[in-house]
Amino acid sequence: RASGHTVRLHETYEQLGGKSMQDWDIRCDVVVVGSGGGALTGAYTAAANGLDTVVLEKTAVFGGTSSYSGASLWLPGSAVQERAGLDDSTDMARTYLRALLGDAEADRQEAYVTTAPAVVEFLERDPHLEFEYQPFPDYFDAPGRMDAGRSIIPVDLPSVAAGEVRKLVRPAPIVDRAGQPHPDETLIAGRALIGRLLLALQGTGRADLRTRTAVTRLLTENDRVVGVEATDADGRTLRVRAERGVLLAAGGIEGSDEMRAAHGTPGKAQWSMGPAGANTGDMIRAAVELGADTALLDQAWFCPGVELPDGSGAFMVCVRGGILVDASGNRYLNESLPYDRFGRAMIARGESALPSYLIFDSSEGGPVLPAMSIPEASAGDHFAAGTWVSADTIEELADKIGVDAATLGATVERFNGFAEGGVDEDFARGEDPYDTFFCPPRELPNVALPPIATGPFHAARIVLSDLGTKGGVRTDADARVLTADGNPIEGLYAAGNTSASVSGSIYPGPGVPLGTAMTFSYRAVHHMIG
Ligand code: FAD
Repeated sequence: RASGHTVRLHETYEQLGGKSMQDWDIRCDVVVVGSGGGALTGAYTAAANGLDTVVLEKTAVFGGTSSYSGASLWLPGSAVQERAGLDDSTDMARTYLRALLGDAEADRQEAYVTTAPAVVEFLERDPHLEFEYQPFPDYFDAPGRMDAGRSIIPVDLPSVAAGEVRKLVRPAPIVDRAGQPHPDETLIAGRALIGRLLLALQGTGRADLRTRTAVTRLLTENDRVVGVEATDADGRTLRVRAERGVLLAAGGIEGSDEMRAAHGTPGKAQWSMGPAGANTGDMIRAAVELGADTALLDQAWFCPGVELPDGSGAFMVCVRGGILVDASGNRYLNESLPYDRFGRAMIARGESALPSYLIFDSSEGGPVLPAMSIPEASAGDHFAAGTWVSADTIEELADKIGVDAATLGATVERFNGFAEGGVDEDFARGEDPYDTFFCPPRELPNVALPPIATGPFHAARIVLSDLGTKGGVRTDADARVLTADGNPIEGLYAAGNTSASVSGSIYPGPGVPLGTAMTFSYRAVHHMIG
């Protein structure tokens, strides 16, 4: 674009001893780094408002971890909850968050709950974007909670409607991580979210989206971020100039063992659910080089992980049976806890909990894990790899996993007593609405407490996984990246797991990772628009 503005920038650049203006390969208004739900919401907000927008994605497909996700979106008090007849509101959501998070980051909490309905309203104006309510309980018993939840999800996207875009969306974990064949199926959950956002972006005619283009550096002029440098698929350097701003939404540090170790983040890259090689903290490091402050780098959206035969972790969720024991053979948590609280209980237990074992029986017709494993491996593959073992008695099972047989026997016996009485006297499993939500209806004193009684018995190795880390650069209510003295770095914005989460060390409910990523990306672009 030829404009006076461009010429002026050219002069400044020359004065700085930089290269000439021809060095800009692309000129646009907004550059977005990454292509998850937050990134694409920001990009769509920009493009739909008439801004030329460039999205740069490091891997071969769009969507990141967001594609893998269930795409529950904690975007409370919107028209979608109203359509579903829910008694949800911004006030209730505010009450709930404040009860959990206290006054820390009150302005960002407020920005989140008051903007969420506007994000949904804006997105739903596009014919490609449509959401519906999905029952999924909030994760804490606190004022303002909704027992059946308040999250929304994108409506499924039929393969035909997705068209060519389907091939650009990162496949589901079972395909992408577990290597199973790629069915030509309806895009659901996270893939529907990414597919729909790509279609909407395409419809604006203002977006240039590139895969295999890794951003390596942020470019500045007079203390303002004015663009990025990236390496494309052919190894060429690409310089992209952004007149309005650069939005970093490039995930967290989950894929970097080096950064995890440097910041004391529990777990490890191999167990994390981030796509292999994707989220290695590149943009957090680039922003820190410019003086960005960071917070919460030891935090993640934790979860238990079923150890898969290849040593990776699979998100374990919706537990409906079995008990978890550590190396001592003792239970140490309510197995029905929401997954982040489950992960944090594993961390609190320390070394003896890594790995832990889910002990389960054959009451579901064989070695069927009484929980969802995303992705899953067959029982046969688990047995062959030794990640699951079986035995006819609990004592034999204990020997196979190297746990004291008498202790494990006593643990199971005590739990079976609780199952019979319908009350878990040790960890209150089955008392919270979340605990029973994923359990099938069954004739038991407490549906969350099925006994472990039908041999053979099985033990699955459980490690500490995460759905991404949640520490990163510090941002304000408009997602502007802040320095240690609290001043914004002009032209630089961050959202999603590249930024330090507004929810600190708490995971309030289903869809907070994506809900916050989308809301703060939307706010970032509105701030750029001014
Ligand atoms: P991502 O979505 O991972 O996107 C980051 C992108 O940036 C990646 O594509 C990466 O390749 C790219 N990138 C990284 N570095 C660079 C670079 N240098 N240059 C260019 N691109 C780069 N959350 C919810 O809110 N609701 C749910 O229902 C939910 N369910 C989940 C289910 C599963 C199975 C999993 C695994 C996660 C789930 N989560 C859910 C968590 C959520 O998906 C993630 O925390 C969230 O999507 C992270 O978003 P992000 O934008 O920060 O990162």
